[in-house]
Amino acid sequence: EPVLYIVATPIGNLADLSERAREVLASVDYIAAEDTRHSGRLLSHFNIKGQMISVHDHNERQRCEHVINLLGAGHSLALISDAGTPLISDPGFHLVRAVREAGFRVAPVPGCCAFVAALSASGLPSDRFQFIGFLPSKSGARAQALETLASNTETLVFYESTHRIVESLKAMQAAFGDARYAVVARELTKTFETIHGDTLSGLVEWIEADSNQQRGEFVVLVQGAETATADDAIDPEAERILRILAKELP
Ligand code: SAM
Repeated sequence: EPVLYIVATPIGNLADLSERAREVLASVDYIAAEDTRHSGRLLSHFNIKGQMISVHDHNERQRCEHVINLLGAGHSLALISDAGTPLISDPGFHLVRAVREAGFRVAPVPGCCAFVAALSASGLPSDRFQFIGFLPSKSGARAQALETLASNTETLVFYESTHRIVESLKAMQAAFGDARYAVVARELTKTFETIHGDTLSGLVEWIEADSNQQRGEFVVLVQGAETATADDAIDPEAERILRILAKELP
């Protein structure tokens, strides 16, 4: 049976490629990759010689038909992205949807995902969280996006690149306030892995003071808004009186 495998690849440390990912990449007829040169290096590191086809943001919709034809001819394929899990702030959604609609099997080969790794080591509440991914690059749209999240009580998870990390932290400080606690997870699984938590004002100060901390790839996790302030809580005396009154109700 032809299958489209969605294969997670490492986010830094190559030893994180799973045994099963390796087997699947070695066994499929075609490997669809976001950047065939970049992925070519990963595959040659593991001595995998698959035939590659390119599927990126700009050609994904056109590529669907080609992939469906290959599956129809009995070939299995793997989809990989530059790093981590495909479809997570990466191409693949249109392809997976089209392939499933065409009636073919899509099977995940799970592994690394930067935000899951960051959340798991951040010390922030992980029972409920909202994954936002990349914020808009224009400052107005970014401020607006952050504004709509300001009262969200779940942990907020963002992706950021080296170009905009300082700007983004400042925008978060403006939208969520100086005192909101957040964690910056940088270069996970790589040599300069750093996981640093502080208030947003503390984080901005810290990152501006050390340009080394501005380099690389980032996950930013922001603690959710407080659910209730002390002012909102019911005064114990008022609660006692309410109870007495409630007993008298028919
Ligand atoms: N598909 C990937 C995944 O599963 O996490 C994400 C791809 S997205 C285009 C790239 C972004 O992921 C980076 O800008 C950064 O925010 C985050 N990222 C990827 N690798 C990372 C790492 N080693 N440490 C921290 N963040 C990382």
